[in-house]
Parts: sequence; C-alpha cells; structure tokens
Amino acid sequence: MESRTYTAEATPGDRVTLAGWVHEIRDLGGIAFLILRDTTGKIQIKFEKDAMDDELVETGLNVHRESVITVTGDVEEEDRAPTGVEVIPDEIDVLAEADPELPLDPSGKVDAELPTRLDNRTLDLRKEEVKAIFEIRSGMLRGVREQFRSLGCTEINTPKIVATGTEGGTELFPVTYFGREAFMNQSPQLFKQLMVGSGLERVFEIGPIFRAEEHNTPRHLNEATSIDFESAFFDASDAMDACERIVIAAYESVADNCEEQLDALGLADEFEVPEAGFPRLSYEEAIERINATGELDEQLVWGDDLPTEAERALGNDVGEHYFITEWPSEIKPFYIKDTDHDTELSTGFDLMHPRLELVSGGQREHRHEHLIAGFEQQGLEPEAFEYYTKMFRYGMPPHAGWGLGGERLLMTMLGLENIREAVLFPRDRQRLSP
Ligand code: ATP
Ligand code: MG
Repeated sequence: MESRTYTAEATPGDRVTLAGWVHEIRDLGGIAFLILRDTTGKIQIKFEKDAMDDELVETGLNVHRESVITVTGDVEEEDRAPTGVEVIPDEIDVLAEADPELPLDPSGKVDAELPTRLDNRTLDLRKEEVKAIFEIRSGMLRGVREQFRSLGCTEINTPKIVATGTEGGTELFPVTYFGREAFMNQSPQLFKQLMVGSGLERVFEIGPIFRAEEHNTPRHLNEATSIDFESAFFDASDAMDACERIVIAAYESVADNCEEQLDALGLADEFEVPEAGFPRLSYEEAIERINATGELDEQLVWGDDLPTEAERALGNDVGEHYFITEWPSEIKPFYIKDTDHDTELSTGFDLMHPRLELVSGGQREHRHEHLIAGFEQQGLEPEAFEYYTKMFRYGMPPHAGWGLGGERLLMTMLGLENIREAVLFPRDRQRLSP
C-alpha cells in the first residue's frame, strides 16, 4: 500500500488511492455519499448512481460501517463537502468487512459508558476526541523527554520484577519467580538512586509502577506510568526547579504540537501553560491554610497526612500548581533526608495540581549510618536492602529527585474526570483485560 494517499493530503486534480474505515453512508436517492476516515481525518466519496458502474455503487453503498476499504478515484473541489473536496471513485476494494452490529459507535452519535469503551478500546480510539487524548499523551512525553535531555539527564530502564518493595508492604503485587517470592516494582526509587552514585549522575526513567491500591478511585491505577528523576549534587530546591521545568515543558509541547487534538477536545481556547515560579508552601503553612478554609469537619494537626478533602480545599484556595515542602519526617519514607535545621522536618516535597497530588520527591539520605537507622525506624530490615545500602559505603553523593505520575499529569492537563481515560488499557481492581 505504498501508493496510498492520506485523506488530509487529497488535493483537487490528484488521482488517489485512499485507505481507511467507512465512517458513514448517506444515501440521498440518486446521489449518495460514503465518508471515509483515516488517521488524518475524513473525506467524502460521491456516488452518482445513474452515471456509475452498478457494481461499484453496490460495493460502496452496501458495505457495513467501520469496514476497511480502499478507494481509487479522482479528487475534485466541492464547496459543499465537509472538507471542501470529494473523491469520484472508480474502484473500491473491501479489505476487512465489519459486523453490522458494533459494540460501540465510533461516530460518537450514541454515547457509551466507560467500561464498554475500555472493553472495546480499538473502536473507542476511532473517535477523534479519544484518539486526541493519546496523541496528546505522546506529545506530552516527547516534551518531557526533550526537557530531561536539556537538563543533562541520561534515560535509564530499571527492573520491574524485584525482591523487595520500597513504599510499604501492603501495596505490593507478589509474583512467583522460579519458585521464589518476588514482587512487581512499586517505584524505581532505589535503582535510580543507585545510578546517581554511578558515572551517570543525573538520570530519568519513564516506566510502569505497580501498586495494589486498596480502593478503586478515579485517580489510582494498579499499573501507572511514573516519570522519575534523580540527580547527584541536587538538594530539594534544585529538584523542585527541575520538576517545575518538566511540568511546564510537558504543557508547552502539547500547546506547540497538539493544536488540532486540543481542538478536538474543545480545549483549544482554554489551554494554558502554567507559569514558572510555582508557590512553595511549607507543610505547616499548608495545614494552617486548610484549617482556615473551614471546609474540613475536623481541624488538621501537625503530623497528619493530608486527606483528599484537604488537598481539594487547599487546591481551591491556591488555584494553581504549588509545592508543599518540609513534611514531617515521620510521614515520609525512610530514604528522604531530614532538614539540617530540624530532624522532625524532612526535605520531602509534593507537587500539587489544584485537583490532586502529581509528584512526591525530596533530598535523599546519603549517609550510610542515617540510612540504616531510617530503615529500622520504619520497621524494615536493612539486610533485605543490602544491595542498595552497601553502595552508600563506597561514595554516594548527596542527591535529590522525584516521581511524577504520568497519567495524573495528563488527566489534570486535559481535565479528565477519571484517570482510566488517560491509559489505553487500564489495570484496576476489576480490570485485567484487555
Ligand atoms: P497518593 O497519596 O495520591 O495515593 P502516593 O503518595 O501514594 O499517591 P507516591 O508514592 O508519592 O504516591 O508516588 C509518586 C507519584 O506517582 C504520585 O504523586 C502520583 O502522581 C503517582 N502515583 C502513585 N500511585 C499511583 C497510582 N496508584 N495510580 C496513579 N498514579 C500514581
Ligand atoms: Mg506521594
């Protein structure tokens, strides 16, 4: 199919062979139209029944919607056609006939519920606005990768089958590894840290993380895409700077490369690239502001994690992306370093979108004895992590980094209600296939 022309490139005067899906057939009597759709758009194919070969007309008008066909013919200008051009066919081949009954309607005239859409993702992604989400996802990741490169990072890939978890035992998926117990990795945390002490120094990874989340929520997946960053000789503030640049670059890349897709989602006018200089609130200030909104039934006290309602109340109050810094050490993981001025306070930070948490990060504990003590405080056995802690005895530089949820970035960027809309084939408590 080398000589195939995309519908968007069909120009009056050309003779073309188009290939795509039958979007719609409109039979007006003496004249009929077949709307052919491909990845670039749609085009009108005109049938003048009396003036055309009967067999050709019959093939073109009897084929079921969503069948795959090729159409060869001449492109002509036609002001009344949706794209200003139409094709007068002289040959039509049906390459793959579709069943007359479809599980969902790709023309979008009949709405489908999310589960039906996810069960039939191939058909779902024939809809312009759904396809647009995944083209934007691709555009977003392109911007992220380019920005990481300009920050001097090396892209790495770390194992997803591991011997031990890092973010708390209950969220682990066990797997059987040649008769031994192993787990799906919850985060590349320890591996990326090991790389800042290698010759690479500054790294990023975009890959899956696996979490057996307790509940089904609109913002948790059991397999998510984490955008991870880690750099030697960075402190928490440097890491927040890098984080802000990545988030802004993601938006910029979408604004620059995905205009058509934003338009398909009805976002072309309202899409805004966030402005640099995201506010940085300390955890203490955050709690005070949340309590001051009066939106919680119970006032938060120092040491509490922020419940969903608290995040929402603060998000509404701040109204833009913001960091929460200096979290209590006790509610951050063992690998986060305490601040120099107060061991009750950690260098851990979260980046928040007004709707929800996007990122967790911080400066890491690079001092061997402190790291071992941290493990013990969290009830973890340092021996199980010896592959990791050992390297802290051979020259591990101070370092910092973060993990950004790729789907959460996309869902907040596009205002998607449910995180499942941001994944082709989501994994949740009920869904393991497709
Ligand atoms: P939350 O409190 O919102 O459940 P978390 O604090 O448990 O998130 P982290 O361990 O800090 O998550 O992971 C870093 C980032 O990875 C999160 O800020 C989020 O963007 C993303 N992330 C974590 N877990 C999930 C998940 N189950 N589904 C989608 N994204 C996730
Ligand atoms: Mg977090």
